[in-house]
Amino acid sequence: MIAILSEQTRLRDQIVSVGASLFDRGLTFGSTGNISARLSSGEMLMTPTNVSLGTLDPAKLSRFTAEGVHVDGDKPTKEAFLHRCMYCEQKQAGAVVHLHSTYSVAVSILADVDPANVLPPLTAYYVMRVGTLPLVPYFPPGDEALALAVSEKAKTSHAVLLANHGPVVAGKTLHDAQYAIEELEETAKLFLLLQGHKLRPLTPEQAAALKRI
Ligand code: ZN
Repeated sequence: MIAILSEQTRLRDQIVSVGASLFDRGLTFGSTGNISARLSSGEMLMTPTNVSLGTLDPAKLSRFTAEGVHVDGDKPTKEAFLHRCMYCEQKQAGAVVHLHSTYSVAVSILADVDPANVLPPLTAYYVMRVGTLPLVPYFPPGDEALALAVSEKAKTSHAVLLANHGPVVAGKTLHDAQYAIEELEETAKLFLLLQGHKLRPLTPEQAAALKRI
């Protein structure tokens, strides 16, 4: 019991510090973005609705049972279903981060990207932390079809990009998810900087070799 409590306390503090770090560096703004973490018991902690990630209170995080029932803390984010979809399909995931970060959202609006894998393998770290990035078609907020579409893409990728909306990334730990979504954001920025230039991304062989590391 003591071990379970300390794990929960540690995760609550991590969610608060990661939220503040993302907010302080302009990766999230207003009350956008949400973070969750899954305990070894299967219970889940999640950021509440209508709060800034910059000023989270560890005691007010929404807590869910392993079955997805909200048991205490403030009312959860309206985007809680995005997190549930990722955990359902990515069994190893211990955390999920969703942002409306500017460059990733910009790429999610571009026409003519490959919906099976939006960004090319520009750098080794992008390949190692993100790999494949499928595009989830646009659905209006609250449309239940979005959950089905996210689940479909999450079967084969721990990172997905919601069209005209933003990225959702799962990781084994909260820091894994944080570092992956930051790598995605920086790679989206590079991709936009390079528009109009002839690219030399990693070859399929170079990318495949990295995945084995
Ligand atoms: Zn969102």
